[in-house]
Amino acid sequence: MPYKDPEKRKEHSRKQTAKLKGTGKRTEYHRQWRLKNLDRCNETSRRWKENNKDKVNQTRYCTRYKATEEQYKHYLSATHCECCGIEFSDDHDTTRKCQDHCHDTGKVRGVICKRCNTVEAQYKFNPNIFEQLKEYIAKHQ
Ligand SMILES: [Zn+2]
Repeated sequence: MPYKDPEKRKEHSRKQTAKLKGTGKRTEYHRQWRLKNLDRCNETSRRWKENNKDKVNQTRYCTRYKATEEQYKHYLSATHCECCGIEFSDDHDTTRKCQDHCHDTGKVRGVICKRCNTVEAQYKFNPNIFEQLKEYIAKHQ
């Protein structure tokens, strides 16, 4: 590192920015600098993610489900399954919180437990599953 003093480093960066401004070389300069300082960049990125877990989780959620900030807040504040009413808990896999969404349209639906999400997926593959289950149970009573 050419400058250990943060102020000298900032001044060097300002001079470089001014020198390369409008030439299109700044992006290339940054790319080259990043390649030379990959470990430092990765460490800085790791530290930032560690200190900003909420932002990372929100971005991940909103990107994955193409959701709004309000939908993310609704997901975070949900305490009970919107389908069966069971209280969410990380203690059991079946009561874990899931963001239900349509896989065809990507539309975010409700916040449900993993058990209801699994049943919903089964129903999608076989819409007659509940009738068949009812008949099966009646047959064996
Ligand atoms: Zn449920």
